[in-house]
Amino acid sequence: MLKKIKFAPLLLAALLCAAVPGAWAGRLRVLATTDYIAALAKAVGGDKVSVDYLSPAGFDADGYSPRPQDIFKVHQAQLFLMIGLNLEDWARDVVDAANNPHLIKAQIYHGIKLLDKPTGPINYSFGDIHPYGNPHFQTDPEDGGIMAKNIYKALVYADPSNQAYYAKNLADFEARLTKAEARWKAELAPYKGEAILPYHESWHYFAEAFGFVDPNPPFTIEEKPGFVPSPRRIEDVIQDGKAAHVKLVITEPYYDVSIGQAVAKGIGAPCVVISLYGIGANPKETGYISMMNYIVGKVARALKESAAHAG
Ligand SMILES: [Zn+2]
Repeated sequence: MLKKIKFAPLLLAALLCAAVPGAWAGRLRVLATTDYIAALAKAVGGDKVSVDYLSPAGFDADGYSPRPQDIFKVHQAQLFLMIGLNLEDWARDVVDAANNPHLIKAQIYHGIKLLDKPTGPINYSFGDIHPYGNPHFQTDPEDGGIMAKNIYKALVYADPSNQAYYAKNLADFEARLTKAEARWKAELAPYKGEAILPYHESWHYFAEAFGFVDPNPPFTIEEKPGFVPSPRRIEDVIQDGKAAHVKLVITEPYYDVSIGQAVAKGIGAPCVVISLYGIGANPKETGYISMMNYIVGKVARALKESAAHAG
């Protein structure tokens, strides 16, 4: 899972000599690893920041392979925001290669109640790509709020002169988030207690936040995060899924979706494909709250269809 990148020295020199784009002038240059971190930074930073991100929309941030132009982005950035917890292991190489001594780096997982912390020895060769705990907490709205607060602190550290402006934006965002969270909970309330089966360990926080059956460790199609399931594993998951009365299988477009579909067919439940990195790829997802609107809506519709089918 750990992908090392090599950059040709000449290409690197050419990238680092390029000028800062004019649109960035006068704003704090924020670079995030993923789309949803960038969206939160934009919500809090408003007009005082320019925001970009590395792992492209629609791709898996767990397995992103950086490109040479990412070094240029890091070299020009003033504040670098990442989840941490090995989600973006690839980011370390890019930051090292960019050699930007003024870059302020912030990990924004602080304060999140982490799930799925491995208890035994960490073994990457066995597909253990979440060695410090599950980093996919963006679908728990409470954690969305914690990330926004952490981003606020990082913005104030990097740009204290605009503290009052960032504080107002944070308060506005928190107010909108609180309202939206109540709406999402109401939308999913009819399905409370149902079992959902994800392909990857990326829906555990969602399950906890919205009251789905929440086994610990989470019941996933992968045997371990990052480990493609064997035919034997798939058979076992189908049997266990039937026993657990799984109502919905969730997979993501950057995995082999045919596996999720085969499991769903075996269990007799619908399969829904949802990207967790849809901002910028899906026109309906333009920020954190619209991202959650889309995800919650899609899960609710699939569960409604599942209930109608069963009934
Ligand atoms: Zn993962």
